[in-house]
Amino acid sequence: MKNEILILPGDGIGPEVINEAVKVIKVLQKKKLINSVIRYAKIGGYAIDTVGLPLPNDTLKAAKASRSILLGAVGGHKWDNIKDFNKRPEYGLLKLRKSLKFFANLRHTCFNPQVLSSSIKSEKLSNVNILLVRELSQGIYFGKPRGVLYNKYFLRHGYNTSKLDEKAIRRIGIIAFEIAKTRKKKICSVDKANVLEVSRLWREIISDLAKSYPEVKVSHMYVDNAAMQIILSPKIFDVIVTGNMFGDIISDEAANLTGSIGMLPSASINSIGQSLFEPCHGSAPDIENKGIANPIATILSVSMMLHFSLQKPLLSKYLNASISNVLKKGFRTADIKYTGIKIVSTKQMGDLIIEEFEKLI
Ligand code: NAD
Repeated sequence: MKNEILILPGDGIGPEVINEAVKVIKVLQKKKLINSVIRYAKIGGYAIDTVGLPLPNDTLKAAKASRSILLGAVGGHKWDNIKDFNKRPEYGLLKLRKSLKFFANLRHTCFNPQVLSSSIKSEKLSNVNILLVRELSQGIYFGKPRGVLYNKYFLRHGYNTSKLDEKAIRRIGIIAFEIAKTRKKKICSVDKANVLEVSRLWREIISDLAKSYPEVKVSHMYVDNAAMQIILSPKIFDVIVTGNMFGDIISDEAANLTGSIGMLPSASINSIGQSLFEPCHGSAPDIENKGIANPIATILSVSMMLHFSLQKPLLSKYLNASISNVLKKGFRTADIKYTGIKIVSTKQMGDLIIEEFEKLI
């Protein structure tokens, strides 16, 4: 495995936010604080347009050889009408995650007191600190059979399959329990066991695993209730463990607690030390090329990279502090603006963070 950071800008605002995150990496390279080499590759709609595949072979080869991967986002209206799922931009990302066997996705939602634009009252949010552990390798996004077929009445029906084996449930459960041991020793497992067999198996395995972690308090919650509680009483959560689709939805909802989805980073890990870092948001075609996208989620993804992949926790701390300092000074991108605050562009926000970062490192 090479000491390489593979950069996959992707589509929509992906390249815009990646530009700002790469500035951070370049500063660290210039100051010789990291010795990783940067390499770029294509993914998503951009790769479809230029190479004909959402995940070209060269990209997959480079990804397999890299320790860290930094991704912007994939997808957009231009490719919305492609019917064959294997040819859609999103397939590129799902295939990347599957090929590198990323089985766990960590999303850290922390209420930042400097960001007051959350739609939830700030008294409900103070001290909110949720780590969402999401199973990435199985579930309805990958399950087969899938497709759209005509039935005997010539009516089309769409279908997908949700499959999870007990090995995958146990593996993600262990990650969540191990993390919970280092935090408040509290896990909420989210499923839909009242309706789905796959969720009943999930609950059985998590309950069984809990016997090996007597110090961790476990609760189970149906996903519809969890979606409500995350808004009503977010403080009740510490570690949440859940499957792929429920995690996808709940993490976007949790993003609202941070003020904007543009503030939420994520890390995906496999069992051989490779990690994929990416903002939780998509390609945001509605704001593409306007210079207003918030680059903080992607810069925080670099911070997670420094912590979890490059083993530079102090640099990660300095980068987080630099972001906080810029917010404290009252600079905001449009998504986290409020009255009387200075609105800056994507590039200006990146430059301001670099300016603070260079003072600290
Ligand atoms: P989205 O996350 O792209 O956008 C949702 C809303 O949040 C939009 O109003 C957008 O303007 C806003 N937003 C997102 N990121 C922002 C940022 N950094 N700064 C400011 N505002 C931001 O989700 P969507 O609209 O459901 O999906 C758009 C496209 O992205 C679709 O093609 C979808 O498939 C794709 N997508 C990709 C990923 C990924 O690459 N990981 C994840 C989700 C969606």
